[in-house]
Amino acid sequence: MATRFAPDVYAQRLARAAELTATAGYHAIVVGTGPDFRYLTGSDAETFERLTALVIPAQGPARVVTARLELASLRESAIGELGLQITDWVDGEDPYTLALDGFGPHAKLAVSDALPALHLIPLSQRTSAPIALATPVLRELRMIKDQAELEALRRAGAAIDRVHARMAEFLKPGRTEAQVAADIDAAIRAEGHNLAEFIIVGSGPNGADPHHEQSNRIIETNDIVVIDIGGPVSPGYNSDSTRTYCFTTPRPDIAKAYAILEQAQAAAVAAVRPGATAESIDAAARDVLNAAGLGDQFIHRTGHGIGLSVHEEPYIVAGNTDKLREGMAFSIEPGIYFAGDWGARIEDIVIVTADGCEPVNTRPHGLVVLPG
Ligand code: ZN
Ligand code: ZN
Ligand code: ZN
Repeated sequence: MATRFAPDVYAQRLARAAELTATAGYHAIVVGTGPDFRYLTGSDAETFERLTALVIPAQGPARVVTARLELASLRESAIGELGLQITDWVDGEDPYTLALDGFGPHAKLAVSDALPALHLIPLSQRTSAPIALATPVLRELRMIKDQAELEALRRAGAAIDRVHARMAEFLKPGRTEAQVAADIDAAIRAEGHNLAEFIIVGSGPNGADPHHEQSNRIIETNDIVVIDIGGPVSPGYNSDSTRTYCFTTPRPDIAKAYAILEQAQAAAVAAVRPGATAESIDAAARDVLNAAGLGDQFIHRTGHGIGLSVHEEPYIVAGNTDKLREGMAFSIEPGIYFAGDWGARIEDIVIVTADGCEPVNTRPHGLVVLPG
């Protein structure tokens, strides 16, 4: 599987970024390495103290400024295929002056939100105009996925579903969470991911901590176990899916609460369509849990956008009045947490379609009873 898309995909993204830069009234946006840089160039270069940046002017071709020692790896990316101009510098030269060359002393600039302060401050000293965040420009691009990106997210979803389908091989009473996680790690890679980005194995009381990762706790026959797993599939798009498991018929109170969680997750999925606000999807899940007296157990937002980053825009949270649009992709993952006792979460990634949504995860949503 290719590590990036065809060059014309990046050419289109760069052209669109330049249009949005012009519309926003900037002379240029400056994008540091990381997911935004990868989105626009296909390069997963990561630099820190030496500036590597993509400069997208409102008018004229985009260019890259980089330390000479990064040249070879950038030429291997879509940057080389597109024939983008690369300006290299050596230690002792001033990369900021090179980056802003041609924009004059009053250049209006915006920078990507992950550009380190150690680059932002010197850049800001080379123009008299205040520097803005390019986040509105870049999130506009990255939030709406094109067909190739949606296809990558579907592949990632199918890959993590295959790992969940194999859970009986790994998850057994008498094993520690860490032993289970090690096997899941291997399965995540075997089923087509580049790596396991995160593995949550929350058994019994650990399931009540949404950010628990794994421990040496030995899993018991009566435990409820939350498994939340994912990672990138080439060319870098992430999976993220949670299912909750057990080994015997659950306690009646657990079965009852879990059934309501399942309804809450389904209600949020059913509410997704273009024009609905992000916060209305959060409310759809929360209303079901509130009505059943479980609202206090749902202690986080309903979801997050996903793509080259595991967490990105749009966030499915109270207060986000952004309207959903076709081509957005995000998680729907309500959970209920009973401190010291048990927890459960159900998580699918969905893609907004013309009249609703398409879940990329298709494993059954019920509490999965594995052999004990
Ligand atoms: Zn989180
Ligand atoms: Zn997750
Ligand atoms: Zn998630």
